[in-house]
Amino acid sequence: MISLKRYLDSAPTDAASDPGKPGLLAMVFDAYGSALLEMGGCSLHACPGVGDGLKRDLVEIQSGLSSGMSPAALAAADGSVRERLRGWGHDAARHYQQKACEVKGMLLAMARTAESVGARDQRCAGQMTDVTERLKAIASLEDLTEIRASIEKSAAELKSSIDRMTAEGKAVLDQLRQQVADYQAKLEEAEEIASRDALTGLSSRLYVEGQIEKRMESGQPFCVALVDIDHFKKVNDEYGHLVGDELLKQFGAELRSACRAKDVIGRWGGDEFLLLFDATLAESEAQTERLRKWVCGDYTVQGKAGAVKVRVDASIGLAMREPGEALKELVDRADAAMYEQKAGSRAQVV
Ligand code: GH3
Ligand code: MG
Repeated sequence: MISLKRYLDSAPTDAASDPGKPGLLAMVFDAYGSALLEMGGCSLHACPGVGDGLKRDLVEIQSGLSSGMSPAALAAADGSVRERLRGWGHDAARHYQQKACEVKGMLLAMARTAESVGARDQRCAGQMTDVTERLKAIASLEDLTEIRASIEKSAAELKSSIDRMTAEGKAVLDQLRQQVADYQAKLEEAEEIASRDALTGLSSRLYVEGQIEKRMESGQPFCVALVDIDHFKKVNDEYGHLVGDELLKQFGAELRSACRAKDVIGRWGGDEFLLLFDATLAESEAQTERLRKWVCGDYTVQGKAGAVKVRVDASIGLAMREPGEALKELVDRADAAMYEQKAGSRAQVV
């Protein structure tokens, strides 16, 4: 932002540039606005626990940007961005600090349990020593009645000692079981958050990558399809970012319903989705064609000024994993196929 301001102070105004071309200043503002949106998206991925507050605020600041705004308004927007970034950094640090404390707490609880097991064993060892000492003492007694009474007393003590040990052991075990269950629940919760995309509820990029790697290890054949909405930026520009978000949600839901339960469907980022099919190339091509017909078409999204109808088209690139191919190469091939299709459909439109 500092460099943008410096640039604006020294750059020629739009009026001075070629009136036939889009203003340089407008392009700079557009690029800056896109950077703010990307930053918002990344903040949500970096720390889903802190929520989408920063993303919402940056979208609001971005929607207020225009190359015609006054230096004072620009300085105010600059201030807001800095303030929100600083606030988010603080919240994210606090969030991760809290998570670290939780893990520390669990480790301490485990250590305490281990300590109490050790202490109990020491106590039991002491009680056993008492009993064995008494038994040794019995051996030196002469009177049979006295020996019998002493043995009975020792036997009763031994029994109560063993009962106490059993009860204490059970309590420690119950406590340990409870701690393990709490620990497991927290891990499952963290895993669930990491495996879902916060906006669409589809699988996260992290989860899809994990699933791809699993299949690579097992060597089973599979295909990936990269789906990218065409001209999605226009939706944001015309109706606002919230309508864009809602459209992404609806589009994700349509992808889900067009796929089979065994297919993995994830949001790769922005308006891109990655699908994983445990199928041959021919089956996946047929599936992709069905899917395209299902997800492309008119969507009705609720905007600030009522419902808006948006026509959605998408480009899809498919790639089957070749033996020994790494994840990045595979996704890059799907991406290249997707771009080829996008370019093809644009050429047709022209
Ligand atoms: P193309 O036809 O070439 O795919 O262009 P496009 O307009 O669809 O734009 P592109 O795929 O290059 O970029 C996607 C845009 O989606 C960029 C960004 O402004 C926007 N975006 C990214 N994440 C989000 C999000 O979470 N919500 C909304 N509403 N927009 C997002
Ligand atoms: Mg797109």
